[in-house]
Amino acid sequence: MASYTEILLRAALKKHGFRLTPQRETILNIFQTLPKGKHLSAEDLYELVQRQGEVISLATIYRTVKLMSQMGILRELELAEGHKHYEINQLSPPHHHLVCVRCHQTIEFVNDLVLEVGQKQANSASYDLLDCQLTIHAICPEALQEGWPSSLSEDWQCPRSGLTGDSHH
Ligand SMILES: [Zn+2]
Ligand SMILES: [Zn+2]
Repeated sequence: MASYTEILLRAALKKHGFRLTPQRETILNIFQTLPKGKHLSAEDLYELVQRQGEVISLATIYRTVKLMSQMGILRELELAEGHKHYEINQLSPPHHHLVCVRCHQTIEFVNDLVLEVGQKQANSASYDLLDCQLTIHAICPEALQEGWPSSLSEDWQCPRSGLTGDSHH
């Protein structure tokens, strides 16, 4: 699985006139060791950094993930209302997300057709394609079975959440 290494990150930062600071390195390391299909908000990242016994302010984390997204190292995802989530940008074909808006369980998939449409659209406007993501907002079968939306209680926890994908927030 091709993804950004420290060397590639250093090169990408340098190209844009930035240094690889210890904070940026810590943040990259966290993303590199995440299980596949896991996405982090800035707040999640803040907690993980603290758990490692390091201190990076939330403001620095916000700035760093923005910067890394603009350089194509991270992908910024609009998975559900509320906070943005981030993941490392795999250099292989971009994947897309099917998201449950109730429990935020996320299924990742690859579809060449989506990429083709994105590429064509960018080309026709003479834009340079950096990333192409499709986010499908849906309701998972577990929530539907419990009678979403009317009979689903506020504190309902998806039985599948925590096992796969995003379960937080
Ligand atoms: Zn993803
Ligand atoms: Zn769900």
